[in-house]
Amino acid sequence: MYRWTELVAYRVVDGSYLLSKVGRSQLAHRPECDRVNRWMVTWSTAGEEARVRRVPCPECAPEVGDRMDPHTVLEATRLTALVAQDIPELTDLLLAGRPGQPAHDPRRLSPLVAHMVEQLCVTADGFAAHWSTRTSERSVTVIRDTW
Ligand SMILES: [Zn+2]
Repeated sequence: MYRWTELVAYRVVDGSYLLSKVGRSQLAHRPECDRVNRWMVTWSTAGEEARVRRVPCPECAPEVGDRMDPHTVLEATRLTALVAQDIPELTDLLLAGRPGQPAHDPRRLSPLVAHMVEQLCVTADGFAAHWSTRTSERSVTVIRDTW
């Protein structure tokens, strides 16, 4: 696995929550690779990223290691921090999909989010009760008889 996400929830002293997402990657690309995007950095300007052990992209297969071309493009660490005022907002963040995509189905969570939910159920007061209420909601259509 050359790409992974680390998810950590922090309880802030004022009672809010900070959800930290760190996207990491070891992949390196040739500059002309289709997978290169503006979030990436070249090896010669990489700073901290240059210290990450690199794995060549399976499509463009650049040389990595001691003989790496300085123009080689490195996938960089991406940090996201989201603030939730309370447990309902934290639940919203965990269930939110990527921008422009629908929310996650709570019955089909990724292992990463499922693990976070398990931990919060144990460590965050009130989370388990809120989660079970929230995830048992169904949209109910009530059909009334007319009279
Ligand atoms: Zn590539």
